[in-house]
Amino acid sequence: MSSFTDSLDASNAAYVEAFSANGVPGRAGTHLLLLTCMDSRIVPHAIFGLKEGDMKVVRNAGGQMNSEVERDIVLASHILDCHNIVIMPHTKCAMASLSLPEVRIRLNERSGMDFSSFEPRMIGDWEETLRADVARLKANKLLNEGAVVRGARYDVDTGMVHWVC
Ligand SMILES: [Zn+2]
Repeated sequence: MSSFTDSLDASNAAYVEAFSANGVPGRAGTHLLLLTCMDSRIVPHAIFGLKEGDMKVVRNAGGQMNSEVERDIVLASHILDCHNIVIMPHTKCAMASLSLPEVRIRLNERSGMDFSSFEPRMIGDWEETLRADVARLKANKLLNEGAVVRGARYDVDTGMVHWVC
């Protein structure tokens, strides 16, 4: 019986065949770190024309700041040469289009399980959330002094990045 890893192995074999990034340093070549959503329509390196070694990417549901992500970014701002930080949510994000009660109902309907105390961080107003996340990171006293933090929104229908703050 074949598993999903069989087709991944076949694709990876082709990637390995063409692989040329041996020896690329672990630091971010463009000093760029991107926090974005786990949405499958977002292909981070392709969006900015980047390749292996160019950019650090942190992803979660919604591309949202939280204390864990914030620690990773602070670390990267010092140790991994990430001086340019972009927080980039996107259009048509499920995290911003459903309310918490709606998500709980949907999860319950799909699984039959009780999600009444499940607490995913939904996004009410995406722009307000983005501006607050950028401000929160900028205010972090441990962030590398020279780091620049920007907020943008990715349009999944056009591929365009719109700078917000
Ligand atoms: Zn999303």
